[in-house]
Amino acid sequence: MTQHSHMNNSCIFCKIVERTHAAHILYEDGHFVSFLDKRPVFPGHTLIIPKIHIGCFDDLPINAMQDFLTLAQNHSLALQQCIPCEGTFLAMNNRVSQSVPHLHMHIIPRKFKDGLKGFFWPRKEYQTLEEMNEIAEKIRTSLKKMKRK
Ligand code: AMP
Repeated sequence: MTQHSHMNNSCIFCKIVERTHAAHILYEDGHFVSFLDKRPVFPGHTLIIPKIHIGCFDDLPINAMQDFLTLAQNHSLALQQCIPCEGTFLAMNNRVSQSVPHLHMHIIPRKFKDGLKGFFWPRKEYQTLEEMNEIAEKIRTSLKKMKRK
């Protein structure tokens, strides 16, 4: 990730990076910042963002992936050390349901029986095995066409 990319003047997360909008910053390095989500699912709910304005996960350069995921794991472990929780939920809305168009990973402290089970992902069975085979084959074909592996 090159640091010369610009901030987006209308982006609230860019403003947090620039310190022109207040936030409870938790961590900062050359490429990423983390801060408390102001409307947490549970206390300690954290967001990790790239400093440069990258709209969504699809646009994160491949050379940033390792650092980004390492940071997510560090935050997940740190939360579990300091907050009464038994695990975490890591999530990213990617365009759909993404309310701030600057890539952000949610790291949310979780406890067993904390009431969130299935709360936003109602599950369905595939209607038939054929339907499942068909979609699996479409995805395999699409993956083979990807330039990035
Ligand atoms: P999403 O809906 O996945 O795009 O998540 C956006 C998150 O950003 C929400 O959980 C908001 O509570 C959080 N958020 C929005 N503005 C701020 C802000 N100024 N400071 C901290 N968190 C924010």
